[in-house]
Amino acid sequence: MAHNNSKQDNWQIVEHDFQLDEALVNETLFALGNGYLGMRGTFEEGLGRAALEGTYINGFYESAPIIYGEKFIGFAENKQTILNLANAKVIRLTIGEDADQAVEEFNLLTGKILSYRRALDMREGVLRRSVKWQSPQGKQVQVETERLVLHTHPHTALIRYRVTPLNFDGPLSLVSGIDGAIRQSEHAEDDPRLGTHFTGEVLTLEERSFSAESAIMVHRTVTTQLTVACGIRNVLDAPCASEPYSEGQFTGYVYRLEGRRGQSVTLDKFIVYATSLDISASKVVPTVLGKLDEAATIGFETLRAAQRSYLADFWNVADIVIEGDDTLQRGIRFNMFHLLQSAGRDGRTNIAAKGLTGLGYEGHYFWDTEIYIMPFFLYTQPEISRKLAQYRHHILDKARERAREMAHLRGALYSWRTINGAECSANFPTGTAQYHINADIAFAIQRYYDATEDDDFMKQYGTEILCETARLWIDTGDYIDARGNRFCINGVTGPDEYQILVNNNAYTNLMARENLRFAHEIVTWLRQTDAVAYQALAHKITLQEDEPTAWQEAAEKMYIPYDMERGIIPQDDAFLGKAVWDFEHTPRENYPLLLHYHPLIVTRYQVCKQADLVLGEFLLHDQFDRAQKQRDFNYYEPITTHDSSLSGAIFGIMAAELGDTEKAYRYFADTATMDLENKHGNTRAGIHAANMAGTWQGIIFGFAGMRAKRGLSFNPTIPVQWHSYAFKIRYRGRLIGVRVTPGKATFELLAGEPMEIRVGDAPMQLDGSIHLEI
Ligand code: BGC
Repeated sequence: MAHNNSKQDNWQIVEHDFQLDEALVNETLFALGNGYLGMRGTFEEGLGRAALEGTYINGFYESAPIIYGEKFIGFAENKQTILNLANAKVIRLTIGEDADQAVEEFNLLTGKILSYRRALDMREGVLRRSVKWQSPQGKQVQVETERLVLHTHPHTALIRYRVTPLNFDGPLSLVSGIDGAIRQSEHAEDDPRLGTHFTGEVLTLEERSFSAESAIMVHRTVTTQLTVACGIRNVLDAPCASEPYSEGQFTGYVYRLEGRRGQSVTLDKFIVYATSLDISASKVVPTVLGKLDEAATIGFETLRAAQRSYLADFWNVADIVIEGDDTLQRGIRFNMFHLLQSAGRDGRTNIAAKGLTGLGYEGHYFWDTEIYIMPFFLYTQPEISRKLAQYRHHILDKARERAREMAHLRGALYSWRTINGAECSANFPTGTAQYHINADIAFAIQRYYDATEDDDFMKQYGTEILCETARLWIDTGDYIDARGNRFCINGVTGPDEYQILVNNNAYTNLMARENLRFAHEIVTWLRQTDAVAYQALAHKITLQEDEPTAWQEAAEKMYIPYDMERGIIPQDDAFLGKAVWDFEHTPRENYPLLLHYHPLIVTRYQVCKQADLVLGEFLLHDQFDRAQKQRDFNYYEPITTHDSSLSGAIFGIMAAELGDTEKAYRYFADTATMDLENKHGNTRAGIHAANMAGTWQGIIFGFAGMRAKRGLSFNPTIPVQWHSYAFKIRYRGRLIGVRVTPGKATFELLAGEPMEIRVGDAPMQLDGSIHLEI
C-alpha cells in the first residue's frame, strides 16, 4: 500500500493521495466482502480502463471445456471460473445541465484533485473516501463516500454518497445504477497464477426492471445456467426529480437537483445480490426486492451500527495486539480482516486463494484453506471452521467421482483446485498429482476435532471423509520389495511445486500416515461408542471389517525416506541425487523461477518453491526431535526460493521453534505486509489469503510457540523489536488470553473450565491467571 503514515490509528489503512499507477493494487487492498459477496475497491464514478471492476459471489462460476493440445484420459475436463458480476457501485455525478454546454462529470482522471483521502476502517468494516475536486472549468465539489459489505446481511452492500458544491450554486445530477457491461479479465500472458478468464459474453442479460425506487438486472450464465439478480434502491435526502435511466447495459435512475454552495446532498444506495445457488431461479427477483425493502427500512445508520457490533465481537476474540510496531500491527489486523471477508460460511462454499478480491486463480479453493487458513478460524471462531470443513463433505461425492476417473477402485480423491468439487487443474503435475490435499483435509478435521471435541461433526461428516481419504492411500500406494516391503506412495507431487511427479514425497507420506492412523482411531471410536452411527456409515460406504486394520498396517509400514549420511529427511526419493540449483548465477529478476524457466528445467535441480518437508515437521511437530528439525531446516532453507507466498510464514514458525527469534521476526515482517506492500508484485489480481493466515500462525505458533494436540502447550518468545504482543485462543470451550512481554508471559482463563496447559516442558493448571518468567 502506497501511503501509510505512522501517526495514524492502527485500525485504519489509509491512502493519502490518489495514485493512478497504484489503482489496481489498491482496488484489491480496499476490497470489501463478507464471505458471500465481495467487491473490489473501485470508485463509484469509475476510472475507465485503469480500473478492474470486480464483484463476486462465492461459488458463482461459469465453466467451459479445457482445451488441451494433447489430451489424455483422466485430464480435468472443464475449467470453472468465478465471475465478475454486474457492478452495482456505480454513482456518476455531473455538474451543469444536459442542455448546458458546461456539463462536466466528476472523475479523478480529469480536473484537479484538491484533497484526497481513502481509509479502510477495520474496526467498523467501512471504506471511506473524501475528495475535494475542481472541474476543468473551476467548479469545486466535495464528494464523501462510505461503503460497506454487510457481515450481518450477506446479500447486502451499502453506499452513502454525499456531494457538496463548494464554490457554486447550480444544477447537479446523480446517476445511480447497475452496470452490466463488465470485463472478465485483466489478462497477462504466461502467468499461470492468473488463470484463463473468459473473454466473450459469459453472462446473458435475462431481465431488467424498475419498481418504485428499485432497479434490477438479472443475468444468467451460459453453461452452468446459474441466475444472478442484482438490485439497487436509492434514497436521497433532498427533493429532486428522478426518473429511470437505462442505456446499453446500464440500468438505474437519474436524479436532478439544484445544488447550493455549502449544502450537502446525500444518497444512500442499498445493493442486494441473490443467485440460484441459494434459491430457485424464479425466486431471485422477489428475494432481491424483499431484501432491498428490508435494508431500506432498517436504514443505513442502523445497518452500519450492526456491522460495527459484528466486528466488535469478531475483534474481541480475534485481535492480536502488538505494542512497539505500528506497521506490523496494522499488517496483521489487515490480514485477519481480509480472512474474515473471504470465508464462505454456508457449508457449500469455501475460501478462494484470493478471497473475493480478484480473479487470480479463478476463484478456486485449494489446500490453502485446510493447512493455512483453518487454524485462524478454528482457534478464534470455530463455528466458521466447522462450515469450511463441512464444505469438504458437501463435495465428497465429487471427490469419489474423481477417484474413479483416476482409476482408483475405492476412496475419494479431492480435486487440487475447484469450486464445485470437480478438478479444474489443467496442469496435472502441479495439480491432480498433489494427492497430499487428501491428507491435508484429513489433518484439518483431526485438528478441528482436537480443538472442539465436536462428536456430532465427526459422526455427520468427519469420519466419512477420513475413511474415504484413508482408502485412497491404500489404493494409491504399494508395499515395495526394494524398499524393505515398506508402504510407498509413488508418482505424486508434494507441496513444493518445483519437484514434480516424485516418488515418496516425505511430506505426503508423513501426512498420509497421519491420515491412515487417525481414520483407524476414529472408526474404532465410533464402533465402540455409537454402534448405530457406525453401522449406518459402514453401510453407506460399504466399509469392510478389515479395512481399518489395513490402514493401520500401511501407516505402520509407511516408508519415510531418510539420508543417513546427512542425517536429513530427503524431500523425495530422487531429490538428493540432483545438483543444487545455481543460485549464484540466477539474477534477481529471474524470480519467481516459474515465470522464467520451463518446469522441466527447474525440477532437475534441488530447488524448492515453498516449504515442504519443513511444513510437515511443523504440522507433525511431535514426531521429530529438535536436532532433526534443525538439520532439515538448515538444509532446506538455503535452497528454498519462497516463490510461493505460502512459504515464508512456515519457515518463520520453524525458525521460532528452533530458537532463532531474529530470523523468525524477519520472515514475519516480510509476510505480514506482503499485500499491503505488494511484495509479490501481483496483489492487483487479489490478496494472498493463505499467506495472510500464515502470518497469524507466525504469532500464535511461531512466537508464542503454541501447539495443540490433546491439550495446549506454549513456548513463548518475543522479538526484541516489540514491547509486547497479546492474543486470545478458543480451545475446547475455553477462551484463553496470552500476553508476552520481554522476559514474561501471562496466561489467563477468560471463559470456561480450568484446564492444564504446558509452558515449555512444565505442566500447569490454568485457573485464573499464570504469570511466568520466560
Ligand atoms: C502454491 C500452492 C497454492 C496455490 C494457491 C501456488 O503458487 O504453490 O501451494 O495452493 O499457489 O495459493
